[in-house]
Amino acid sequence: MRLDGSCHCGQVRFTLRSAHPYPFNLCYCSICRKTAGGGGYAINLGGDYDSMHIEGEEHVSVYQARITDPDTGKATISPGKRHFCRHCGSALWVWDPRWPKLVHPFASAIDSELPQAPERTHLMLGSKAGWVPVLAGPKDKLFDEYPEESIADWHRRLRLEDTQD
Ligand SMILES: [Zn+2]
Ligand SMILES: [Zn+2]
Repeated sequence: MRLDGSCHCGQVRFTLRSAHPYPFNLCYCSICRKTAGGGGYAINLGGDYDSMHIEGEEHVSVYQARITDPDTGKATISPGKRHFCRHCGSALWVWDPRWPKLVHPFASAIDSELPQAPERTHLMLGSKAGWVPVLAGPKDKLFDEYPEESIADWHRRLRLEDTQD
């Protein structure tokens, strides 16, 4: 399906094609929580980067998180580029050069009506803040870190892949 998204102040607008538009993937990591997840997590969708069209790109800033390894104390910069509006702060999408054909818009930035997920995945629960409840349905899957199943795999397993356009 086609997804239309925008920031809150409206200076950034974007469209893209997505075969994987179900908002099922709740990430509780500290980066998502602080940059995009006021409720304790953020939800990423899967989209096709080549199809992406951005209006107001000059208003977009990029954040790459510094991640400190808890065992070694060594800091590295995450290759994932988190795009946000530099005026209103809305989190918009993540693009990672390791998977250049994919883009992960935040469900919160999408204006198109998204389908409701029949089950959800709760990931990075090892990094969850203590005040955040995990409101898991009976079929939901819970992971302390990243699951093996990708956003695309989840859509295929549930036969929800949308390859129409
Ligand atoms: Zn904005
Ligand atoms: Zn995260």
